[in-house]
Amino acid sequence: MGITRICILGGGTAGWMTAAALSNKYSSLGFEITLIESDAIGTVGVGEATLPHIRMFNQALGIDEAEFMRATRATFKLGIEFCDWGRLGDRYIHPFGDYGAPVDGIEFHHFWLRLLQNGHTSELDDFSYPVLAAEAGKFRMPGPDVSRIGSNFGYAYQFDSGRYAKFLRGYAESRGVTRMEGRVVEATRDQQSGGIASVTLDDGRSASADLFIDCSGFRGVLIEGELGTGYEDWSRWLPCDRAQAVPCEARGPSLPYTRATAREAGWQWRIPLQHRTGNGYVYWSEYISDDDATQQLMSTLEGPATADPKQLYFKTGKRRKLWNRNVVAVGLSGGFLEPLESTSIYLIQEGITALIELFPTSADMERDAAEYNRRMDLGFDRVRDFLLLHYVATQRDDSPMWRYFREMELPDSLSEKIEAWKSRGYVQRYEHGVFLPPSWIAVMAGQGLIPQGRDRRVDARPMADVIQMTDSIAKQSHAAVASTPDHGEFLKRYGAVDPSIMDAAE
Ligand SMILES: Cc1cc2nc3c(=O)[nH]c(=O)nc-3n(C[C@H](O)[C@H](O)[C@H](O)COP(=O)(O)OP(=O)(O)OC[C@H]3O[C@@H](n4cnc5c(N)ncnc54)[C@H](O)[C@@H]3O)c2cc1C
Repeated sequence: MGITRICILGGGTAGWMTAAALSNKYSSLGFEITLIESDAIGTVGVGEATLPHIRMFNQALGIDEAEFMRATRATFKLGIEFCDWGRLGDRYIHPFGDYGAPVDGIEFHHFWLRLLQNGHTSELDDFSYPVLAAEAGKFRMPGPDVSRIGSNFGYAYQFDSGRYAKFLRGYAESRGVTRMEGRVVEATRDQQSGGIASVTLDDGRSASADLFIDCSGFRGVLIEGELGTGYEDWSRWLPCDRAQAVPCEARGPSLPYTRATAREAGWQWRIPLQHRTGNGYVYWSEYISDDDATQQLMSTLEGPATADPKQLYFKTGKRRKLWNRNVVAVGLSGGFLEPLESTSIYLIQEGITALIELFPTSADMERDAAEYNRRMDLGFDRVRDFLLLHYVATQRDDSPMWRYFREMELPDSLSEKIEAWKSRGYVQRYEHGVFLPPSWIAVMAGQGLIPQGRDRRVDARPMADVIQMTDSIAKQSHAAVASTPDHGEFLKRYGAVDPSIMDAAE
């Protein structure tokens, strides 16, 4: 049981999430956890929208939700609104929740398909409480029986990720994590294992450890700079390679959802926080210049910008091994997939969870690393397929970028999924990894892919029954929304900060 000294390199969201989770599990066992970060280098400074899984992360740390919401200026998130993806002028919401509820063990959407395939008009959104609540700008928490209409949903947060890292820093330091400020300039290797033995800072101090967690951001200082692990480039599938991010003053009521609007050469995000709105444009530099991207972004803000746009460069993909020798890459050092479905912080969380489950017991970490890499590869592949779905389930061909996607050869895993949906409305359920069937249904149906077939078991019910049952579910969903408070009101009661006491700099 010799692995007790852990060194985390990097103090962004990934670094402090890792430090908080590891200190929660291991401080009481006498582990020494050190985190090194450099204020001079700073953090990437973006990443505001999350998935519902983050609630489990916070709960496992024993974090009080209202305190967290105040500290991070968070709002609640019921899903993502996608505009102009299937066709120009289209919009739909990908909700964190089910459509209807299974009947006789059959997923609800097959009943909806029977209606459509028999010439009835019916909106899938009418069967989703989170979609209807988001559209109405309303929010409340799900009730205890999550199988009930009006409670069969999850929620996430939209928050200031810099504030989240600061919040977790307090948590981790109070549980014994030692923070070192400075730039790592060198690493020494263990002669026998070839792993990293210690890192040296620019002022000459050094830190030794048995296990290093590389949270150094896109640089990948240890996993790539020192170990030369290599990178799987996925830009043939997800070619957007730049982004600009800019906050602006919030206008209008606070909305419980993120918006992603497709553009000719990428897409634009809008994320409402308590005190401001985060905006950004993710684009493919082959088809739009940085200046034009800035112009498009700035001309579509809802209020005055509160900072200059920040330019970011990236290549989508992942490290060949996220765990190599005694270095585990968590966060941007491990890979990056564009933030269309808010998956980066989720992948950080997955990395931390897998690391804790597979925490090495000796210096021979090869087997632990192999299993970790298998799990994380699966997670990355699944997110990649889901993101790519948005670009290919479309009729758009109005710009070179959209035409590129029309001719693309898809990963087999994605083509199979699309075909199974188109032929009989079937969505494969993953045992591990993110995005359950309702997410796939939301995007495929939302972008105009309507199956030709359905689960034939639904035909056993008389059509009149199906109409009555679907009507009743739609009525229950609408009624649940009618009694839901406005998101802004709910926030005021639960977790909002009085604007008069916010720092002027916010
Ligand atoms: C355009 C864009 C939008 C995004 N939007 C979202 C989103 O909505 N939702 C989401 O979940 N994710 C999003 N992400 C991803 C999210 O920002 C990151 O996953 C998250 O911030 C974690 O970053 P990180 O901690 O890995 O890296 P960073 O924030 O870059 O932190 C790196 C740390 O390493 C330190 N460091 C680096 N080199 C050294 C060195 N030599 N010595 C000492 N310290 C060093 C730095 O000082 C810093 O503390 C987005 C990313 C981009 C690019």
